[in-house]
Amino acid sequence: MKWVRQFGGGSAEGRAKDKALLGGKGANLAEMAALGLPVPPGFTITTEVCRHVIEHGAGNYPAELDGEVQQALARIEQLAQAKFGDAEHPLLVSVRSGAPASMPGMMDTILNLGLNDTTVAALARLSGNPRFAWDCYRRFVAMYGEVVLGVVAQNEHDEPPFDRALEDIKAKHRATRDQDLTEAALRDAVTLFKQLVLAHTRAPFPDDVRAQLWGAIGAVFRSWNNPRADVYRRMNGISAAMGTAVNVQAMVFGNLGDDCATGVAFTRNPSTGDAELYGEFLTNAQGEDVVAGIRTPEPIAQLAGKLPAAHAELARVGKLLEDHFRDMQDLEFTIQRGQLYMLQTRNGKRTGKAMVKVAVDLVAEGKITPKEAVRRIDPQKLDEVLHPTIDPKARPQPVAKGLPASPGAAIGRIVFTASAAEEWAQKGESVLLVRTDTSPEDIHGMKAAVGILTARGGMTSHASVVARGMGKCCITACTPLRVDAAKKQAMFVGGGKEMKLREGDTLTLDGNTGEVFAGSAPLVPARIGEELGTLMTWVDQFRRLRVRTNADTPIDARTARAFGAEGIGLCRTEHMFFQPERILAVREMILANDEAGRRAALAKIRPMQRGDFEELFRVMDGLPVTIRLLDPPLHEFLPHTAAEIEEVANDLGKAAQQVAAKVAELTEQNPMLGHRGCRLAITFPEIYEIQAQAIGEAAAHVAAEGIQVHPEIMIPLVMVPEELRRLRELVARALREGLGGAAIPFTIGTMIELPRACVVADRIAEHADFFSFGTNDLTQTTFGLSRDDAGRFLPTYVERGVLPSDPFAVLDQDGVGGLIALGVRGGRHTKPGLKVGICGEHGGEPSSVEFCHRAGFDYVSCSPFRVPIARVAAAKAALAEDPA
Ligand code: PEP
Ligand code: MG
Repeated sequence: MKWVRQFGGGSAEGRAKDKALLGGKGANLAEMAALGLPVPPGFTITTEVCRHVIEHGAGNYPAELDGEVQQALARIEQLAQAKFGDAEHPLLVSVRSGAPASMPGMMDTILNLGLNDTTVAALARLSGNPRFAWDCYRRFVAMYGEVVLGVVAQNEHDEPPFDRALEDIKAKHRATRDQDLTEAALRDAVTLFKQLVLAHTRAPFPDDVRAQLWGAIGAVFRSWNNPRADVYRRMNGISAAMGTAVNVQAMVFGNLGDDCATGVAFTRNPSTGDAELYGEFLTNAQGEDVVAGIRTPEPIAQLAGKLPAAHAELARVGKLLEDHFRDMQDLEFTIQRGQLYMLQTRNGKRTGKAMVKVAVDLVAEGKITPKEAVRRIDPQKLDEVLHPTIDPKARPQPVAKGLPASPGAAIGRIVFTASAAEEWAQKGESVLLVRTDTSPEDIHGMKAAVGILTARGGMTSHASVVARGMGKCCITACTPLRVDAAKKQAMFVGGGKEMKLREGDTLTLDGNTGEVFAGSAPLVPARIGEELGTLMTWVDQFRRLRVRTNADTPIDARTARAFGAEGIGLCRTEHMFFQPERILAVREMILANDEAGRRAALAKIRPMQRGDFEELFRVMDGLPVTIRLLDPPLHEFLPHTAAEIEEVANDLGKAAQQVAAKVAELTEQNPMLGHRGCRLAITFPEIYEIQAQAIGEAAAHVAAEGIQVHPEIMIPLVMVPEELRRLRELVARALREGLGGAAIPFTIGTMIELPRACVVADRIAEHADFFSFGTNDLTQTTFGLSRDDAGRFLPTYVERGVLPSDPFAVLDQDGVGGLIALGVRGGRHTKPGLKVGICGEHGGEPSSVEFCHRAGFDYVSCSPFRVPIARVAAAKAALAEDPA
């Protein structure tokens, strides 16, 4: 076993494929070194060491590690012609984490390691730039103090101690910017920083460079288990057992003077996907300055003017790496005295829009096949392309502007700390997290917020990178913004105007333009662009599952059809009565005392239903329309307030008291398990009879216009076969009556949404032309968890790892999935080839769609905006079985 792998000097002991062992950063550094690209020499301590430490406890390293590190360090010394801790030619190194899965900004980094009072003097001499040497030193002491020695702010309102101390130094030396600090000021800073360390840790700052190195290595391994890494891993489904690698690499300096720079670049624009070198740099700076957003970086195009040779080299290397990895790359680089050095490359994180465009463009450029393009699509990320934007026709005047860091539009009430964002979101509020800037400690708040607005930062600062990864609207570097988190207030200043903001005020963010609006601005739905259209034609070639939509209104149906829905898989007829004038008729029907009363109410309902069905049939011309007969959980439809009761009473010509008494009589303890679904029609058959007649009439009427109608009638919440046998007979008769002799074929099927129905599916299938799994109710009844109340404690279950995810969002494949498999088997045992679909919310969730593919479903049905997501998920599921 070898615990350390070396790279640099034109060779490497590893390749890009070794990510599990070397981490993403280490593996790609090795690959770049092997490709002969300019990479400072270094070595990677493997993830196996991290796993060893996890098992044996902090500081308990494998016995051979020390020797291997010595040896690897000697090789760097030889290549860099410098010696670690040497008083003449000191070698400085960076120590960085690098996990197998990308965890941007989650782990800790230390730069300039190897500096002490002796080596700093040598660095000053060698560089001929004492200010530079002391600048490195003060950065090192602060970084090491924070990351390794834990000298950090005690709560999130406080400024970090080293930042505060640096502000004191600036004030004392009358410097406004970091660059204005003189050598003397920087020497002062080092002294002050070391005093801070002594005060906080009761031990002097370590001068011994080897002690520094082992301290840093230990801190990286420790950081694998810090809370922010933990949150990130849980959010992204990364296993805690993987461990991180540690990369130790010779330092190159972007802060030696104006012929030096440091920056990050993408080989394509990560927001739009446009094929252009995109990124930011700072001259005379170190890497952390770009990410930390302390100075506002310049766009990469300007590097061409300042350091043309280095810019050309960066463009060449970027292109080479993109071609090599056949994907858009995210690069970190440093330019030392005009010479380019590569510090990192990885597949770049991108917005949903860029994800689609880059995939389609790479196919057009002949770099990848359509299959590969589809495999690379993260279906959930399409959400971003499909998200609403601000209505251009009713666009208000912005109150401020920042950088458009992550697209989409978000409306929310503002809060100023991550904890507040979390608290408010838990209360059901849509919140915007407004900060001076964000740090990894804010992740939980960013996760809870619908949008993020920061005063500082850049396109690659923490907030931008993280928000883009989350697919959340984000604006950074909103310079007019002043935040006072402690006082829970903020201000927009500038242009001679001021606008005060308090916690709870509403703002709208436009992540596409970077504009901020007061109050809530009108939004318009997203539109499918040309590239998405191209991608979708490939997607449709690969998938086997059909994708339908859940739609109750013609508008939803039209949207879904535009998104590629191949029919309606669920029309919830009770949802057609949510408008005030209609709900009254439903209430009258529910509250009627006898059949005559119910028929009177149904007579009002019938023409409304007929009209609705006609419109749906027209929109879905040529495609199947599955209509689910009435399933009103009574608590959703009974009148509650005195005014509602009064209204029903007036309409029925009854006393309010009488109606109130009837409501009390009908009120159930467990309405979700109550008199709903087909149970209602077993007791009051006329309800389904009238609905079926209305469907028949609508179908006949629309067919006469030349529209092709394919009605499929679905009976909900069946628990025993006898329910379906009776209702099928009733519905078929009424439907034929409605059709009045028109030759329109129809089918009658059932929803499978109770465990019992799964178990006796073979006998239910005797009366069903198709099954549609209602996984909302099936999850509720399988778990014995109220779908209306589980939100109160389920998040805790997920947070504490008792459940991997919310089973109402992501199908529980073991439990609910097991019952579904039983149901499919039973149904097809009786009727081979029985059509099977899903219409619960899971029908648009990628992992659940994949399950449906594997379980042999014919179709999934989901809400209109999730149709493209389901199409991609279905294609990926099919491609997962395709080795080519
Ligand atoms: C279901 O239960 O999964 C379903 C689709 O029906 P509803 O959500 O209307 O109960
Ligand atoms: Mg249901």
